[in-house]
Amino acid sequence: MKSNRQIKDHYPCLIVGAGIVGAGIFRDLSLHGIPTLLVDKKDFTSQTSQASSKMLHGGIRYLENFDFKLVFEALHEKNLWLKLAPHLCYEQRFSIPVYNEDKRPLWMIRCGLFLYDLLSSFQNTMHDQTNRSETISKFPQIRENGLQGAGIYSDAVVDDAKLTLEVIYDGLENKNCQAENHMAYINSKKLKEDLFEVELKCELTEQKYKVTTKKLIFATGPFTDKLLSNSHDFNWEPKLLPSKGSHLWIERKALELPSPVVLTPPDGRVIFVIPQGEKILVGTTETQIDGEYFDLKAGEEDIQYLLDNLKQYFPKSNISKENILSTFCGIRPLVKEDSSHSRGKTAREHKVFQPISNCYVILGGKYTTFRVMAHDVTKEICHSFGIPFNSSLSLAPLRVCSHILPFEKTELTKEVVINCAKYELPKTFEDLVIRRLGINDKKHWNHSESFDDFFKSIQSKLSEYIEISDEQITNF
Ligand SMILES: Cc1cc2nc3c(=O)[nH]c(=O)nc-3n(C[C@H](O)[C@H](O)[C@H](O)COP(=O)(O)OP(=O)(O)OC[C@H]3O[C@@H](n4cnc5c(N)ncnc54)[C@H](O)[C@@H]3O)c2cc1C
Repeated sequence: MKSNRQIKDHYPCLIVGAGIVGAGIFRDLSLHGIPTLLVDKKDFTSQTSQASSKMLHGGIRYLENFDFKLVFEALHEKNLWLKLAPHLCYEQRFSIPVYNEDKRPLWMIRCGLFLYDLLSSFQNTMHDQTNRSETISKFPQIRENGLQGAGIYSDAVVDDAKLTLEVIYDGLENKNCQAENHMAYINSKKLKEDLFEVELKCELTEQKYKVTTKKLIFATGPFTDKLLSNSHDFNWEPKLLPSKGSHLWIERKALELPSPVVLTPPDGRVIFVIPQGEKILVGTTETQIDGEYFDLKAGEEDIQYLLDNLKQYFPKSNISKENILSTFCGIRPLVKEDSSHSRGKTAREHKVFQPISNCYVILGGKYTTFRVMAHDVTKEICHSFGIPFNSSLSLAPLRVCSHILPFEKTELTKEVVINCAKYELPKTFEDLVIRRLGINDKKHWNHSESFDDFFKSIQSKLSEYIEISDEQITNF
């Protein structure tokens, strides 16, 4: 096993959870000059923050619930990240086909889209519409029966895993900050009013560490209730209503689709169908979850549900299970609106809890709003350390660029993969391939040399930086 980077005895701040929320807080504390340790039980961004619908968006459907504040904030964040990280996200036009039997007619959709543009302070490329025949000629396989036309609006497509990684790399530019993947939080106890002793365990070597910290921050998303309810010290009542969402990556040739569409089936769900290079992303579902939360797989029912809807909306396509390249699944970390009064209702906005002094737990929100979510924690911590809080620090562009850029922008050479292993903190073969290279499954491999030959030829070089074996390459 590779040895870990040295863990110090004390860090002023310790963040548990390196999804986008923990990453955002890490970067913000780092930018404020506060030495911080960020740990994750698995790889960075290996859970919910790599299993989103991969959109930076205002959330057009939250308009229905009059969540104008959230939509306003998220649209402004989306437009900000299009400027700050143009290599990781791009603007995309989405079409919403409208049918006679739909709850909302085309004129109403247009009003909603105008409101969406207004809430973006007209920074969005303005909405538009296509009539029935224009919609059919744009999407030749779409169901024609009852089609009125389509509303068109702008949002952004993002590589969620890459953005989280780059936010962490940016935080690491402050050399007093450290980020460790495969390092689990086990438990903690208060030594003094403002001093915790935290036990950590490396999940790869089983080695345990004890560190002290003044501020303990949990950014553990959907895992929070399970983690904190196990410890009496936090007196934690469950606050989440978790639900599972699955996605499919399908082959591009399975559907004739020049640009994304938003399907609104009669069950009230929304399904995004987003072409990206040689593949198409389809999702999502909403099902109850029980049992294990880590490394979830999409269930058969969810896969069938998404395929059935694609067939309903694109009857002229021959789409089938054979066209699926891979699937993935995540849990929405939705916070109950008020656990005592409104069971079943959830708030989309984030909340910061302080179960005990100097301990912060952040829950909810959206991937898109991570930067402003981080401010709420950083502000409190700066205040208690007597450091002026400066919200504009996080407006700076990210300083460290990934070796492999998404959306097929980088040619996958052996040299670039080795550099990725050397500099981008993967510890296992999976960390390297799935998140640094963006390959979920061998079926995504699109290179002149076979997957196995490519990695076997650089295996000994890669083994200087990551755990890698013949078996891992073959069975990936
Ligand atoms: C299906 C789906 C689609 C979505 N689509 C979008 C979208 O398109 N746009 C958008 O803006 N938002 C979207 N969201 C919401 C968004 O993905 C989440 O709000 C966000 O990713 C949550 O990030 P997080 O950091 O809170 O959680 P996570 O990414 O899950 O991070 C929590 C981390 O805590 C770690 N952890 C847990 N226990 C421990 C421990 N004991 N020790 C150390 N580490 C631990 C986990 O390993 C994990 O990495 C979607 C969500 C889902 C589920």
